[in-house]
Amino acid sequence: MNQNPKPAPADAGERKAKTPIVAYSVEQLPVYDEVLYESAKQDMEKVGEVTVAPRDASCFEVPAGHFFRINSVEGPQVGDLNLWNLYDLNERFFSGKTRQLHASHVTIGDRLWSNIPYLRPMATITDDTLAWYGIDDDGGSVHDVIGTRCDPYTNHMLKGVDYHYCCHSNLTRALSKHTGLSLDEVEPHVHDVMNVFMCTGFILDTHQYFMKASPVRPGDYIEFFAEIDLLGGLSACPGGDCGSSHSDDATPCYPLLVEIFKASQKILENWQPAKVNAYSRTHGMN
Ligand SMILES: [Zn+2]
Repeated sequence: MNQNPKPAPADAGERKAKTPIVAYSVEQLPVYDEVLYESAKQDMEKVGEVTVAPRDASCFEVPAGHFFRINSVEGPQVGDLNLWNLYDLNERFFSGKTRQLHASHVTIGDRLWSNIPYLRPMATITDDTLAWYGIDDDGGSVHDVIGTRCDPYTNHMLKGVDYHYCCHSNLTRALSKHTGLSLDEVEPHVHDVMNVFMCTGFILDTHQYFMKASPVRPGDYIEFFAEIDLLGGLSACPGGDCGSSHSDDATPCYPLLVEIFKASQKILENWQPAKVNAYSRTHGMN
């Protein structure tokens, strides 16, 4: 914040009183086909699960047209989610554009979009037991796409210590183990996350990023439909419910359970995985 601002111009009030316009209208996005997803879930069968240990991360694969759920199992726990195209790590979740297209916090009907130049839905949120939370009196909400992920570099800068179990490092180790690539090769592919179950917002008068204890409890889950073949990475954040601190070993942490479900093939007979963005990529060059 600027502590010593220059005097405001005479028409400051007028300039600040302009009407906010929602930048991207959701009506322009592909329609959320609730009937399709709900029908496809009717006779889905569980085909796999991965338990993510506290202060660690795991990778999991979800074929296009399958569902996956992230479940709270033993206690309030926040998860940091990364998504990649299963066959190309260069295509990955794009939190910034997802935030602009939907909102700072995502829930049922919202998509998780991939980066440029692919820019297509990677996953659609089809259920969320915390959808009741809405926006609280502090302006906080759950499942944000505004935070990045806790990381050892920021921690080193602010606290002068090396802590190895931040979500960034957890995701880096998990991706290395899953792909067989070295830490150096995979680290650039770890990206800004969806903060599953985390409750965050901005302090009203300073716009500083805040977190508060997650309302998630064992039995809660968020469910996604894979719009393309996915490789997921999920870290059980060392912040636990992120109600007090993060990037240390002081906070109680719990595992997270990822479940993968095969959907009704009959319902999805005519469904197609999302296609990459059709922009010509000529950028005005003749
Ligand atoms: Zn974290």
